Amino acid sequence: MTNLTDIKALSQPLLANLAKLGITQVQDLLLHLPLRYMDETRITAVRDLRLGDSAMVEGEIVHNEVTYKPRKALIARLEDASGQLTLRFLHFYPSQISALKVGTKIRVYGEIRQGFFGYEMVHPNCKAANNDAVVSESLTPVYPTTAGLTQPSIRKAIQTVINQMTPLATKLNAVASKESNVQNPNLAETLPATIYQKNALPSFAASIQAIHYPAPDANLSALEERCTLEWRRLAFDELLAQQLSMRKHYAKRRSVDAPIIAASINLVPKMLENLPFKLTNSQQKVVAEISQDLIQTYPMQRLLQGDVGSGKTIVACLAALQAIEHGWQVALMAPTEILAEQHFKKFSQWLTPLDINIAWLTGSQTKKQRETALADIASGAAQLAVGTHALFQEAVIFKKLGLSIIDEQHRFGVQQRLALRKKGDPQNLNQNLHQLMMSATPIPRTLSMSYYADLDVSTIDELPPGRTPIVTKLVSDERRDEILARVREACAIGKQAYWVCPLIEESETLQLQTANDTYAHMQNTFPDLNIGLVHGRMKPSEKQVVMQAFINNQTQLLVATTVIEVGVDVPNASLMVIEHAERFGLSQLHQLRGRIGRGAEKSTCILLYQNKLSETARARLKIMFEHTDGFIIAQADLHLRGPGEFLGTRQSGVPMLKIADLERDVDLLELAKEWADRLINKYPEAVDRHLERWMRHAGELVKV
Ligand code: ADP
Ligand code: MG
Repeated sequence: MTNLTDIKALSQPLLANLAKLGITQVQDLLLHLPLRYMDETRITAVRDLRLGDSAMVEGEIVHNEVTYKPRKALIARLEDASGQLTLRFLHFYPSQISALKVGTKIRVYGEIRQGFFGYEMVHPNCKAANNDAVVSESLTPVYPTTAGLTQPSIRKAIQTVINQMTPLATKLNAVASKESNVQNPNLAETLPATIYQKNALPSFAASIQAIHYPAPDANLSALEERCTLEWRRLAFDELLAQQLSMRKHYAKRRSVDAPIIAASINLVPKMLENLPFKLTNSQQKVVAEISQDLIQTYPMQRLLQGDVGSGKTIVACLAALQAIEHGWQVALMAPTEILAEQHFKKFSQWLTPLDINIAWLTGSQTKKQRETALADIASGAAQLAVGTHALFQEAVIFKKLGLSIIDEQHRFGVQQRLALRKKGDPQNLNQNLHQLMMSATPIPRTLSMSYYADLDVSTIDELPPGRTPIVTKLVSDERRDEILARVREACAIGKQAYWVCPLIEESETLQLQTANDTYAHMQNTFPDLNIGLVHGRMKPSEKQVVMQAFINNQTQLLVATTVIEVGVDVPNASLMVIEHAERFGLSQLHQLRGRIGRGAEKSTCILLYQNKLSETARARLKIMFEHTDGFIIAQADLHLRGPGEFLGTRQSGVPMLKIADLERDVDLLELAKEWADRLINKYPEAVDRHLERWMRHAGELVKV
């Protein structure tokens, strides 16, 4: 590992600028890879330009003016022997006006677009053309940069390190010297040659060189799409590093102790006997997987995924019973008061007949209630504690916590989940808790193979019998009146409906106002209906009253914000209208829609949208219209938003892949998975080398 400060040719200010990009080692600079490339290897005649291509053109400025309509712009025209090209600048300095004065010979580089008067370039790169100026020999890389750091200086810095490292490399395209790079530890192989050769991938050194200094005949689009063999080699290396670190993490977790909790012979069978329904095959399978985990000496860390309404709660309950039967306490945490409350009721109904005490803990209790709950948790009188975030506050001390269950886990941050995990057995601090996380937002396959590879996953892949599928309709907001009539009709015959207010992410005040306005409007429109309103700014006790009235069918229409997004279970509600559906994310729409279709009644979800949809909004609504399967929706969501947004970096705490693209490189992902195991078994010393190169910045993986 060579520090950049050891390379004499790099100046202090340059090093400072590179450090702003997190680049302090030679290794970092080598892996600071181009975003795209410019083809400055040839000059294209204006006549030969093609729309959408990027090209270099050389000619003389024949026209120059600053226009003010439709907006201020500097417009120049360049002419070569074959025709004229417009250059347009929307932001410019006075110096640029004079640099482009009529008669100047100039060389420009940019993308060809269709303008009002033929082809144009917007904000092209400009260079004075003097007749001797040669064109580049190879494609010019364009790097991610920061203020104060120009492209030529990054390029030069990279050139310097590569040349320093490779004594034989005397010219830019040092392909011929790749052999000598083997001496250089910064370009050395981390992997045994068999691995990359077997998969027809080039060496690391050759890949780095080809990406920073493409060969003169390199294919621009293949390079930019990162599908050359050299890019694929780096993507493979990156994916392999991710697999290796996941496996390390997995192994580390298994080296920690956890309570060994034998299978239940009493409580679980009793519970199943009392249950008014039979578990689906899928539920039985996941119950067995979880039960098997609890028997082990190391902590369970299992994600239970299953679509909305697939019946995860009873599975959680059976896991809790196994722990309770053997004297361990269980904590069940939910992200909202409404959901925590609902769990509390459901568990009370299920577990009170089995003589199990449940404590209830939320942020909104009276001091007295809270003290009682805390005392019961501390003494062990409460075998189960149900609550919101309040469960992991400092004041909460369990007597003997063995299992924590987190519902809708994606709604909690890493730190919150960690805090709950720390509430294990105070007598034995080395021992970890078993953890069961539940989520109705399924993880698409590529993500569970990569970012979640260290997690055990159980999947419920069928819905309980007797559900009728939800019909989804897309309706333009112009037809609102028809929809209102439909709500009236449904409520008149004893059905219940949700009316979901438009989402206003930017302002909570506006969101509140919209909810209140919608409520007032509904009361005017339907004077004969009983209508409820629930939103995020209400006190939990107020929410509770409103929800209870809806559950009891005292209100027929519930005007709601996304507070009803998770968990709410009112089987008689069979109609949902979502206003401004185009503003919601896919998984949010799916969760919202999951509030209906819970009874035997046929359910309808109406997505009202405002005309003039953006392209992605249209794509989202189309997916909602065509699919009800949460797995397909999650896959589509991943496709539309990309893994960074989909995972939410803050929530997951995982370092993002920079080179590999899970959709494009799915074959490499499979390869990396396969080779990770072989590497660990056959070449353990390569594992550390490889992780050192690729995961140095990842730090400790914060995954809980
Ligand atoms: P989710 O997976 O979304 O948390 P729930 O656990 O809330 O789903 O279950 C949804 C509804 O289905 C609940 O009313 C629950 O009692 C019911 N349910 C769960 N499992 C079954 C089953 N095997 N047969 C019939 N109904 C079931
Ligand atoms: Mg649930």
